[in-house]
Amino acid sequence: MEKTLSYKRQCAWKSDKANKDEIFMFCEGYKSFLNSARTEREFVLCAEKAALQNGFSALQNKDSLKPGDRVYRINRGKGILMAVIGSEDIEKGAHIVGAHIDSPRLDLKQNPLYEDGETALVKTHYYGGLRKYQWLATPLAMHGRVVLANGNTVDISIGDEDDDFTFTISDLLPHLAREQGSKTLRDAFDAENLNVIVGSIPVDDEESKKPIKDAVLQYLNENYGMVEEDFLSAEIEMVPAVRVRDVGFDRSMIGGPAQDDRVCAYTAMQAIFETKNPKHTAICLLVDKEEIGSMGNTGMQSRFFENTLAEICCLLGKSASLSVRRCLSNAKCLSADVNAAFDPNFAGVYEKSNAALLGHGVTISKYTGHGGKAESSDASAEFMGEIRRLFNANNVIWQTAELGKVDGGGGGTIAQYVANLDVDTIDCGTALLSMHSPFEVCSKADVYMTYRAYKCFLQ
Ligand code: MN
Ligand code: MN
Repeated sequence: MEKTLSYKRQCAWKSDKANKDEIFMFCEGYKSFLNSARTEREFVLCAEKAALQNGFSALQNKDSLKPGDRVYRINRGKGILMAVIGSEDIEKGAHIVGAHIDSPRLDLKQNPLYEDGETALVKTHYYGGLRKYQWLATPLAMHGRVVLANGNTVDISIGDEDDDFTFTISDLLPHLAREQGSKTLRDAFDAENLNVIVGSIPVDDEESKKPIKDAVLQYLNENYGMVEEDFLSAEIEMVPAVRVRDVGFDRSMIGGPAQDDRVCAYTAMQAIFETKNPKHTAICLLVDKEEIGSMGNTGMQSRFFENTLAEICCLLGKSASLSVRRCLSNAKCLSADVNAAFDPNFAGVYEKSNAALLGHGVTISKYTGHGGKAESSDASAEFMGEIRRLFNANNVIWQTAELGKVDGGGGGTIAQYVANLDVDTIDCGTALLSMHSPFEVCSKADVYMTYRAYKCFLQ
């Protein structure tokens, strides 16, 4: 009786739907991709290379499109849309998996470089929701793009190779932390003190008033052709210089930075690579700026997605206005983003029966938001039912979760912005421990189930 009537989540490791070797093999590809794509720009470069290898070509080089065609379009180097044209009329709707490829980090300020206390430092402005103390006393890598005075660009990537140097933000020694210890966590760490140490040898010039800063400028000039003013037209990110590692005696988990949301972006990308001749046009949409509200022309709130869809409709010989609207009205979307896995060290913030459990498959969230579901795109029971049937029919192990206790906090994803386009949308992705930290942890089984979920949805 109980067996058939009650609902029980499945542990992927104990299920015959998942093979451990298959799971581990898939995750090796994910781990190496994570190590080489440290920023949204680097993700796009790696994704474009992989797309070309998987038979995709640039949309702007096409004169027309037909079912089965594989195309991609890059948005300002920070986002990418990949599509496989379906056999069905595009007005019947597309199947979209949308993930974000930006992650919390420390951006260099516009005018960052200074010297103090016999060191040269750069000032930062944090990006996204991060816990400031996690970024101190840990090695940081520097990645970014600089636009020089003559308009040429130069890319910086330092700190991820084994013999590279790194950078760091100093932390207070416990011996002198008495006053700090009496402060709240919120007040104990000042955003204006997230200054990164970048050098300490002065230039050999008695005239120099800032000899250590000048030495850094000299290095940048010799290696990147930069002068100080070039920082003003640069986007440089400090990211954890932490390589992705297996976690646990059983190697069942993956630890590393920026898995929110590259775990979903990577699995979505692999899923579309394997999508051949789908019925509905399949789209993998990877966007920027989710961590700061999906704003701007590279975020989900930009018209980039609709504009690209209009280009696709035109190349299919359809109307760029009406066909796009009909396509969106009939479209379905998995908003591919992470959720929080139940954490035994912080059990109090979760409601266990509605929290994601590590190793129990891809996590579906009918709604996100905060308080009384504020700012949430609450998917319909009908769409939830459709996804449930799809996953059950395709051996996807899945679970549902809310983000923590009601009134415990909250969060959002790109779901609401896609749903606003008249698209049936639901959140669906991998659960993480230590989300937004320099060492986020996920279960390999969940990564694999996330991939399998996106694959059956796109195909
Ligand atoms: Mn996310
Ligand atoms: Mn996030």
